Amino acid sequence: MADLNTDVRYIKGIGEQRAKALGKLGIATLRDLISYFPRAYDDRTQLRRIADLVPGETAGVAAMVASPPTISHIRRGLDLVKLRAVDDTGTLDVTFFNQAWLKNNLHQGETYVFYGRAEGSLFRRQMSNPVVEPEGRREITGRIVPIYPLTAGVSQLILSRSIRQGLTACADILPDVLPDQVRREHQLCRIEYAYENIHFPESAEALDLARRRLAFEELFLFTIGLDRLRQRREVVHVPPCGGVDMEPFYSALPFTLTDAQRRCVEEALADMRSGTPMNRLVQGDVGSGKTMVAAACVYFCVKNSRQAALMAPTEILAQQHYHGLAPLLENLGIRCALLTGSTSAKTKKSIAAQLESGEIDFAIGTHALITGSVVYQNLGLVVTDEQHRFGVAQRADLAAKGDHPHILVMSATPIPRTLALILYGDLDVSVIDQLPPGRQPVETFAVTSRYHQRVYNFIRKLVGEGRQAYIVCPMVEENEELPDERKAVTEYAKKLQAEVFPDLKVAFVHGKMKPKEKDAVMAAFAAHETDILVSTTVIEVGVDVPNAAVMVIENAERFGLSQLHQLRGRVGRGKHQSYCILISDNQNEETRQRLKVMTKTSDGFKIAEEDLRLRGPGDFFGQRQHGLPGLKVADLGCDTKLLQEAQEAARKLLAEDPDLRTCPATAERIQALFTQAADTLN
Ligand code: ADP
Ligand code: MG
Repeated sequence: MADLNTDVRYIKGIGEQRAKALGKLGIATLRDLISYFPRAYDDRTQLRRIADLVPGETAGVAAMVASPPTISHIRRGLDLVKLRAVDDTGTLDVTFFNQAWLKNNLHQGETYVFYGRAEGSLFRRQMSNPVVEPEGRREITGRIVPIYPLTAGVSQLILSRSIRQGLTACADILPDVLPDQVRREHQLCRIEYAYENIHFPESAEALDLARRRLAFEELFLFTIGLDRLRQRREVVHVPPCGGVDMEPFYSALPFTLTDAQRRCVEEALADMRSGTPMNRLVQGDVGSGKTMVAAACVYFCVKNSRQAALMAPTEILAQQHYHGLAPLLENLGIRCALLTGSTSAKTKKSIAAQLESGEIDFAIGTHALITGSVVYQNLGLVVTDEQHRFGVAQRADLAAKGDHPHILVMSATPIPRTLALILYGDLDVSVIDQLPPGRQPVETFAVTSRYHQRVYNFIRKLVGEGRQAYIVCPMVEENEELPDERKAVTEYAKKLQAEVFPDLKVAFVHGKMKPKEKDAVMAAFAAHETDILVSTTVIEVGVDVPNAAVMVIENAERFGLSQLHQLRGRVGRGKHQSYCILISDNQNEETRQRLKVMTKTSDGFKIAEEDLRLRGPGDFFGQRQHGLPGLKVADLGCDTKLLQEAQEAARKLLAEDPDLRTCPATAERIQALFTQAADTLN
């Protein structure tokens, strides 16, 4: 008897050659085959009357062939079969290209279903190359037809036939990984029904049931799997950190930490005292003061006689952290060093030596921190800033520099907690849900490009008062899709310099510049050597120029809400009232709604939730290579409620039966899904 790991080539009706074609789609086993889900469906169930066909729309009609089909050979390689079909409401002219056999297969007086794109006019309705079959034997019309992602050499037909064979082959061997009790409690259909109807839905309702069940299953397994990862992690023991008097640190700060910052610090310190490695994500809105939470942890760690490292995604951010933290921490007896790509070879060597000997307590830098030659004497804590810019592998490299160092990840992408759980795998999450006192919210406006002149005047006024401005455009170079020069940073900056602000200093920066050039431009802006910085989203991440008071975003419709929020976070960091101006000519209702959200709220979490609601989780996932196993059907944006339900069910099961003894199929599946994932997840 076959099992789900059977090679597809051994499945009846598939064979060597088709197996090879399927292989191109990543389908190797029976499980792969039946889990190759449609990307969409074509609902062919509804038939229309001929009179109701609308040219340009795809639809089906049941019509009788009124005259014997004719065939004409136009030229070599082009045969046309033509016929006229009728129903009570009208006539339809049907043409088939190069399907000569149809001449003898379609008979006058018989009724067939024709499914295709209606053409012609309302007076002369036509279809070319429709799908056709006898009314009494509807296999490919009259159904909701799956549409699979394809590759060269594999057609929809081949796929649906193969999958049909696959489903037949595993009719009796599909293990149900959902325990019966869970299935009943959550009104989920059986596994056979789910697989059958996700591929070949009997009806729209059946498809919904199938989808719901499979999505639930994924989220359920996922939740249990994550729980397992957490437990696995806790098996590691490290010497617990001892208590440290934090007072000297707190008194050295120029301000009092907010309650939220204090809470996050407490949570992190508790982790480090626990005897198992910390794996914590600190999430906080832009400007919520994540850096100081990290600094507190560094202080705690170093006072426990271990080294700490802070890794930032760009040189400029690393420098910024160094200049912000080193004076404070040096005063407290912590020896700091900056190590980046542009550190001279000689300095690098000396820093590396001091890290190895333990003379340096705290290293701040870019990925230079994790290059092979750098060795730490006793690395106890690794902090990564703005983590979504880092690959999982890089973080793992850094962690490997110590013996299970504590890991603190700081992220400025506020995301709903459920999603955080999934996105960040097995990290514990702390949230800084409070801004330091006295912040003035950034005043935000959404306008059309008719306001450009007024926006320029406004920038001029603010620069006159000593402030600086950012102008963000979404594209680096011109391309055909975007002929407007405004969208091209370089051109736009030149134009602004020459025509609008000849007396001011306009600089530009974009992602295609060399890191050194980029950093130089950013540094000049930070030092107020330039007034206006035209840029792409490269400035999105963490840069702190408190004197910048206005952020203009061109073609704002091209950005996601969370991204707009990040960009806006670049201003309002100093004592000056700051402004964000979103320019968009897009009249699309959804766009207007999104931009309105920006003008109404400055709460990053609210914005993220709205973003998720409006656009789905693609953006959150897009920036990150994730190793999320087995989420094919579940849509994290739309299925939030289902996720909660599945999480509840998983927790309940784990509470009753932590080792999953009562449901071996579940345990086995999770084992299979998560063995690989454990290495790629955070
Ligand atoms: P982010 O969370 O965006 O990384 P930062 O750590 O860069 O925020 O902090 C933003 C600014 O707020 C910095 O200038 C920092 O010195 C200041 N700051 C941080 N915490 C406080 C606080 N509790 N009170 C006042 N200012 C603070
Ligand atoms: Mg920051």
